Amino acid sequence: MSFSIHDFELTDKVVLITGGASGLGKYYTQAVSAVGADVCVVSATENGWDETRSIVEGNGRRVVFIRQDVTEDGAAKRVVDKAIDEFGRIDALINNAGIQLRHDLADFPDEDWRKVIDVNLNALYYLSHEVAKVMMKQRSGKIVNIGSMQSYRAGKRIFPYAASKHGVVGLTKAYADALAPYNVQVNGLAPGYINTPMTEALQNDPVRSVEIHDHIPAGHWGEPSELMGAMVFLCSAASNYVTGVMLPVDGGYLLR
Ligand code: NDP
Repeated sequence: MSFSIHDFELTDKVVLITGGASGLGKYYTQAVSAVGADVCVVSATENGWDETRSIVEGNGRRVVFIRQDVTEDGAAKRVVDKAIDEFGRIDALINNAGIQLRHDLADFPDEDWRKVIDVNLNALYYLSHEVAKVMMKQRSGKIVNIGSMQSYRAGKRIFPYAASKHGVVGLTKAYADALAPYNVQVNGLAPGYINTPMTEALQNDPVRSVEIHDHIPAGHWGEPSELMGAMVFLCSAASNYVTGVMLPVDGGYLLR
């Protein structure tokens, strides 16, 4: 049996990622293309496409963008058909697209509950379902679902976010169990508190920002680049005997 640095590479693999041209997704796209993957990016808008194209092409790899709201009826099938047309296979799916809407309990609009569940949970289920059919035929593949600290903990102004991210854990386990016989591994990556626009409200809250900072054993909020190594690991052959887990990348936040 051999083992080498090549087990961490994704040379000539095809990675399909939702929300892969902006926010944290752009860093995952950068990471997987840096270790050899071609990337198919799905996003709701064309936000970040030019920059992402230069990053991937700068790594000598190919990128194709699909503009698609993942919550539309039939979106999953359209995305998978297009990805297969372009690349002929899908080696890894990164379910990264996500939104967060905050309101106090008494004011939480039903419409916002549905919006968050649709993007963070329903779209993840449907796309995984469609991609699973491809991977079952290939008899190989990786699915990485993005969770959060709200996969484990409460969030008293973000009910649908907490529900959806707990749901991501359940779906990760269910898919992992169903797909293991096909040599498809399904795991989650749960980022901690990362310096991004999504956490701006918390960073700007003088009380919560200090509470969170003091709760992180590593002593600092995460930087997006600190998620890249874990993502490559979960997409690569190095993690072939890892399935059904959520990997927190949180500077130890959950320990306290
Ligand atoms: P951003 O808001 O910066 O990015 C969200 C991404 O999802 C964008 O690329 C967006 O595309 C895409 N997206 C949103 N809705 C849709 C939709 N309906 N159809 C297609 N694409 C969509 O968020 P982050 O990068 O911060 O978050 C990415 C993931 O990481 C989310 O799942 C989030 O829950 C999770 N996370 C983030 C943390 C953080 O600190 N930021 C911490 C823990 C988890 P477009 O740009 O085209 O709108």
